[in-house]
Amino acid sequence: MTAQLIDGNALSKQLRTEVATRAQALKAKGVTPGLAVVLVGDNQASQVYVRNKVKACEDAGLHSVLEKYEATMTEADLLARVEALNNDPSIHGILVQLPLPAHIDAQKVIEAISPAKDVDGFHIASAGALMTGMPGFWPCTPYGCMKMLESINYDLKGKHAVVIGRSNIVGKPMALMLLQKNATVTICHSGTKDLKAMTLQADVIVAAVGKRNVLTADMVKPGAVVLDVGMNRNDEGKLCGDVDFEGVKQVASHITPVPGGVGPMTITMLLVNTLEAAERASK
Ligand code: NAP
Repeated sequence: MTAQLIDGNALSKQLRTEVATRAQALKAKGVTPGLAVVLVGDNQASQVYVRNKVKACEDAGLHSVLEKYEATMTEADLLARVEALNNDPSIHGILVQLPLPAHIDAQKVIEAISPAKDVDGFHIASAGALMTGMPGFWPCTPYGCMKMLESINYDLKGKHAVVIGRSNIVGKPMALMLLQKNATVTICHSGTKDLKAMTLQADVIVAAVGKRNVLTADMVKPGAVVLDVGMNRNDEGKLCGDVDFEGVKQVASHITPVPGGVGPMTITMLLVNTLEAAERASK
């Protein structure tokens, strides 16, 4: 069997066109959805991420503001900027790019963002809303994974989903979203004794670890759906995921590539959340 590719670029294109159409409709009512991206310091990877996010906003007709600050910015000054953005009616979504410099308490900054503008979905109120099934913003990466499953009309009811990784931004919210769609969910982590025994039972596997070849073909049940969140570099310095793509694609029914899989979906769901925030604010 050769797995069908779930193409994150193609799905993103489709979803971003929908965002642009909805943004136009809001603009006709006098509201332009706006995202503020705050970057503190000169982390190279963060600079690329924020540039891509701002460009994606512009391409979809959303207003975006990029605020860049020196690594020496104080926590108090950053909290004051977040508060100003909370009170700015032209801004519907606020994203503070992580990681922050070590002298700033990242969680404190995230908690300072108004939950109504928490388009990254990292605020404790957003996490609580996801856990209890209340309306809120879902973290973009696992939300993108759910959209990928939806795109292949995958019915999660009664299926066994195994999530590898339990971070607050990917693994845990991913597990809750799968649970909400009635999957039976197993969460694996570095303390899991026999990862292969778990993944071999899975109908759906989400790998969100940050290590190459965490999932190999012998660990996958024939016909399983495999979503690869990982972002790593191979020996040639090229971007690759957590999954041994060449091997696993011979066993799985569907698989996401890296690059061109979950990555573009993360930015797309940020646009969706920003648009949603603007729509809610304008009601
Ligand atoms: P993280 O906070 O480092 O979490 C990694 C998780 O993997 C932890 O829960 C850890 O377990 C678990 N783990 C480590 N080694 C393991 C092993 N051998 N077997 C099973 N579990 C293991 O990372 P993250 O922020 O969730 O990100 C995960 C990956 O996704 C990274 O490569 C990151 O770059 C990528 N990512 C991609 C996107 C995207 O847009 N494509 C977005 C976000 C993240 P413990 O909890 O026990 O330590």
